[in-house]
Amino acid sequence: MWNAVIGLEVHARLQTRTKIFCGCAVSFGAPPNTQVCPTCLGYPGALPVLNREAVELAIRMAIATGCTIHHRSIFARKNYFYPDLPKGYQISQFDEPLATGGSVNGIRIRRIHMEEDAGKLIHHGDASHVDLNRAGTPLIEIVSEPDIRSAAEADAYLTRLRQTLMYAGVCDGNMEEGSLRCDANVSVHREGEPLGTRTEVKNVNSFRFLRAAIDFEIARQIQVLEAGGTIVQETRLFDPNSGETRVMRSKEEAHDYRYFPDPDLLPLEIEEEWIDDVRTALPELPAARVARYQNEHGLSATDAEILVTSREIAEYFDAAAAASGNARAAANWVRNDVLRIQNERGACRLSAEGLAQLIRLIDAGTIGSKAAKEIFDEIATTGEDPRAVVERKGLAQVSDPAVIREAAAKVIERNTTQVEQYRAGKTQIFGFLVGQLMKETRGKANAEMANAILKEMLGG
Ligand code: ADP
Ligand code: MG
Ligand code: ZN
Repeated sequence: MWNAVIGLEVHARLQTRTKIFCGCAVSFGAPPNTQVCPTCLGYPGALPVLNREAVELAIRMAIATGCTIHHRSIFARKNYFYPDLPKGYQISQFDEPLATGGSVNGIRIRRIHMEEDAGKLIHHGDASHVDLNRAGTPLIEIVSEPDIRSAAEADAYLTRLRQTLMYAGVCDGNMEEGSLRCDANVSVHREGEPLGTRTEVKNVNSFRFLRAAIDFEIARQIQVLEAGGTIVQETRLFDPNSGETRVMRSKEEAHDYRYFPDPDLLPLEIEEEWIDDVRTALPELPAARVARYQNEHGLSATDAEILVTSREIAEYFDAAAAASGNARAAANWVRNDVLRIQNERGACRLSAEGLAQLIRLIDAGTIGSKAAKEIFDEIATTGEDPRAVVERKGLAQVSDPAVIREAAAKVIERNTTQVEQYRAGKTQIFGFLVGQLMKETRGKANAEMANAILKEMLGG
């Protein structure tokens, strides 16, 4: 019996306007080398100045994950040579990181530290070009403990981490553009034995690839060990085309980064007051929302998870639930219809207040559920007030008992044969009589009332 152990290292690009140590704009897709200055180009003598906004976003994520934020942390130089790193070192945090010891989705977070991103190499045929627009972009790295046991758990952890980053306005979460990147450390061991040697799969950039890379790595390691081999600590790359991982570098080739404190930067000192201010300004986070939707509204865990997928949807649901006074109905409409319309038409133009109006019309018996669906599909595009559509199309149901009674009397008078049959015990005929009553009211009678009144008038 083999157990798998996984730890994730996640890099998230902070949503600042400017870079972490200079005033250059952070922009994705700008023409190469247009967002650069002496500092991020690594010119000798150009000094870094820490971006306060970047620190604030890092603090937000540290609070959101329940980490302890250290009042003093240190920026260090991580030395290595690469063409996209003109300084010859990356500024990162090492043995004194910003924050330690939080958790997300039951997985412990070991540390969150701040660092700068490197530039990018662009390969054209046999030539390679360097684009330094990305150099100096602010990142946080979020390192988990090896608490994850399967690809599905890794997916759930990263999903919640990404939602949390996005709710807190820390990172846009765009994995395709590289705003969120993930390295997966994977090992296997036999039940009851110590943890196995891990391999690290680098730069996984989608949830699907993450699951595939982990599953492949678990199967590969088990196969090696069962054949009597050993796992060597190494860095691997996932190839989306083959669905396999292959060696990038072994431990012997691993870098010795010779970390030391960056003499150009003071220790980062954060006062409790700043942390308190950031905490106060945080929105309600997805994990708290899921719990509240279950406890307060009695929704299932599955439904609650769907509603917190994005902050926009969660806030829409909250507004519709509050304004309609019917959270369950609001949850059903959002989960089934609002999301469907968003998928089909790209956007749902109906406001939360409009949806609440629609729910109130149903709850008050003004419209039936069939009419409601029809109205919804229309106002989801037009954004029109549901009451106006009910009016314009004459969709209001008749819920006045006197009016229904009057119509029922006419039906009974006109269908004496069927009424006799019904009273003689042929109860199937009731459906026919209800049909006649609906016809008499041009389909507008409140169906529940029509049934009850007719039954009563027919004598039970
Ligand atoms: P390093 O300091 O070399 O980066 P760490 O021990 O800090 O290594 O771990 C880096 C990542 O690897 C962490 O996310 C951690 O949870 C994970 N990890 C550590 N040991 C294991 C293991 N045996 N199996 C799987 N993941 C592991
Ligand atoms: Mg590491
Ligand atoms: Zn710059």
